[in-house]
Amino acid sequence: GMTNRQSGSTLNVVTEPPSTSSSTFSSDSNSEPWSPTSWRNKNVAQPPNYLDEDELEAAVSKLGRCSPLVFAGEVRTLHEQLARACSGQGFLLMGGDCAEAFGEFNVDHVRDSFRVLLQMALVLTFGSAMPVIKVGRMAGQFAKPRSEPDEERDGVTLPSYRGDIINSEEFTEEARRHNPWNMVEAYHQSAQTLNILRAFSTGGYADISRLHAWNLDFVEQTDEGSRYRTFATKVDESLRFMKAIGVDTSSPAFTKTDFFTAHECLLLPYEQALTRLDSTTGKWYDCSSHMLWVGERTRQLDGAHLEFCRGINNPLGVKISDKCTPEELIQIIDTMNPQNIPGRLTIIVRMGAEKLRKNLPGLIRAVQREGKSVLWISDPVHGNTRKTKNGYKTRDFDNIRAELRAFFDVHDEMGSHPGGVHLEMTGEDVTECIGGLSDVTEESLAKRYNTYCDPRLNGAQALELAFLIAERMRS
Ligand code: PEP
Ligand code: MN
Repeated sequence: GMTNRQSGSTLNVVTEPPSTSSSTFSSDSNSEPWSPTSWRNKNVAQPPNYLDEDELEAAVSKLGRCSPLVFAGEVRTLHEQLARACSGQGFLLMGGDCAEAFGEFNVDHVRDSFRVLLQMALVLTFGSAMPVIKVGRMAGQFAKPRSEPDEERDGVTLPSYRGDIINSEEFTEEARRHNPWNMVEAYHQSAQTLNILRAFSTGGYADISRLHAWNLDFVEQTDEGSRYRTFATKVDESLRFMKAIGVDTSSPAFTKTDFFTAHECLLLPYEQALTRLDSTTGKWYDCSSHMLWVGERTRQLDGAHLEFCRGINNPLGVKISDKCTPEELIQIIDTMNPQNIPGRLTIIVRMGAEKLRKNLPGLIRAVQREGKSVLWISDPVHGNTRKTKNGYKTRDFDNIRAELRAFFDVHDEMGSHPGGVHLEMTGEDVTECIGGLSDVTEESLAKRYNTYCDPRLNGAQALELAFLIAERMRS
């Protein structure tokens, strides 16, 4: 993570020998040679449509000469922490915007997301009594898959908005053109975001003695704010106690934090350009982000996205809806993690509470039967998106909570570890999701509906969810 650990240090990732028992669904696709460009021989779902090949080549070549955004040693640190979480010793907290945007970039926005994640992590650590791994959907979360390739307005049809790394939201022909130079701009914004995150995570901001100062200004006035305040006072007491018995609370464990980044591995020319050979291990790492996940719409077994991911040594995730059968899941696991390395693969479940109760047990059973090591986490937001009468995409806090409850219930029944949560959220006081203790209603959505894509939990709603999860894990 972004502590002062050297990127070149040799950190042992816990590995296990590949299972000798032949798996029912094993595929042999993994013996094929891999390179950062081998994905080009496969079918690309949700492809960008760059009209000028030379322009694309120029942009990719420019990115290829840019410095890595993250370093292999950091990636291995994350992998080690995820490996421990796989065995029940850890909880993964992932969160951030649905889509980062050029127009929304500023230091305060990054800081606000960072500090609400810090607050949530503290609450979760207290509740679960296990390490919480903090990963921001940040510094690269730009590209979006869309259900419709085109959008029509008043008889005019243009390509859909695909995220600022591909095109722009404005409804004009030039804005909607897929522009490869947007990748270079996204890279530079990501570099700035990472620089801010590195400073905040290691430069004193994350010092646990400052936990009162992490309370967000607008949250302060809410029930969640005062609840956090009470909680922070309790943690303060524990810190005073530790100090009194001689624990050095000025050591890095108290003053710095590991903070990692992740985004959807969607735009393959960008990912390819930032994929580098690590000099310490001779292995490939995608240095655009510590962790990458493949989305629900691009996880085809014979597709380009799984092909690209299988060759990089970053920890990976894959989104799973109710459309995924147990057989398919095992094949995905065999492709993305053929050596069954703990911590390499996180299954991000997103199907809505009802479907989850019906489908997740079978998926877990298959994974247990095949002896696969994965980290199960819940994305309780993507299966709960709906459109209001006045045309806003929104999510109800109650549905999000219901899906989380179902996720924990099923893992309890199956004896597996509910290993984390993946949220679309922001530290800001937006009005995009409805309910919770917040007073956001269908009628007030218009007030501060700022998202570039899916609706996000605001800071108070995100914190409320963290308290609910912490309570569940404590009992
Ligand atoms: C997302 O995470 O924003 C997303 C598009 O998710 P999914 O692939 O699960 O639909
Ligand atoms: Mn989304």
